[in-house]
Amino acid sequence: MLALDPGALIRGARVKGVTDDGGKVTVAVEGATHPGSATGGLLVAADGARSQLRSALGVPVARKVYPDHYMMGDFDDGTGYGDKAVLFLEPDGIVESFPLPGGVRRWVVRLGSPAAPGAGADHLAELVRRRTGVTPDPDTNSMLSAFSVRSGLARRSVAGRSVLLGDAAHEISPIGGQGMNLGWLGARELVPLVCAAMAGKTTGSMLREFEKSRRRAAVLARRQAEINMMLGRPLPRPLLRVRTAAMGAAAAAPAVNLWAARRFTMQ
Ligand SMILES: Cc1cc2nc3c(=O)[nH]c(=O)nc-3n(C[C@H](O)[C@H](O)[C@H](O)COP(=O)(O)OP(=O)(O)OC[C@H]3O[C@@H](n4cnc5c(N)ncnc54)[C@H](O)[C@@H]3O)c2cc1C
Repeated sequence: MLALDPGALIRGARVKGVTDDGGKVTVAVEGATHPGSATGGLLVAADGARSQLRSALGVPVARKVYPDHYMMGDFDDGTGYGDKAVLFLEPDGIVESFPLPGGVRRWVVRLGSPAAPGAGADHLAELVRRRTGVTPDPDTNSMLSAFSVRSGLARRSVAGRSVLLGDAAHEISPIGGQGMNLGWLGARELVPLVCAAMAGKTTGSMLREFEKSRRRAAVLARRQAEINMMLGRPLPRPLLRVRTAAMGAAAAAPAVNLWAARRFTMQ
């Protein structure tokens, strides 16, 4: 982009507001190197889950808060699971374990309440040990994160000549790892609309189609993530035994196993 137009990409600027006159859309920009506004045929607002532009455009959000909290960390992989992802359905909640490049393994532990402030790699390794019998080495920890889960779907992702993209349009649970992928798929689908807008062509029906298609994808991804979270919630032991036996029986059939793996990894 910079090779085609060195002025096209402006860094370090903050968009403060938006006006749409029906033909062009203008954003007010704050930043030392920028004149103060930018005008174009289409605005793509990809300013994240707390999108100010979404608020400025008057688009409401349907939010959900879930009773799920997680601690997640990467450790050197001494498990012998190789390239396998492993799910431990435990009475206290699921533990997910995924191989990463470079001999590293990610551990994700579901918690019933937010992780205590300052909980570190030792704490996560101990949780994993208690639930699974596997002890990641805390000294090899290379990433640590604790998060609570919520989702938010913008009621519209198109307002006039503005399009919401990425988390500004749809924030979904990180469980399933699809939030950013959903945003990239939206960006890909948006390319023809950007080209049409740059050629000065009418994009009304294309925008409506885009909105419908991306909403469908977001609703589906959110639903799948919700099912994944539900499967990872703790159950009383008798119910857990029934669920685990049912899942074990189903997993014994290769086709069902493959289907479940796809479902859990949201393919
Ligand atoms: C713990 C966790 C794990 C996750 N794991 C995965 C995963 O494995 N796979 C996956 O696909 N997704 C994952 N996600 C989701 C993923 O991180 C998000 O979906 C993705 O980052 C959203 O990208 P975005 O560009 O829409 O928004 P953001 O990443 O929030 O970027 C928005 C950008 O806009 C800028 N901005 C905001 N307001 C303004 C303004 N007024 N003017 C100018 N700039 C502005 C911000 O500075 C920021 O740079 C995870 C999320 C979490 C919380």
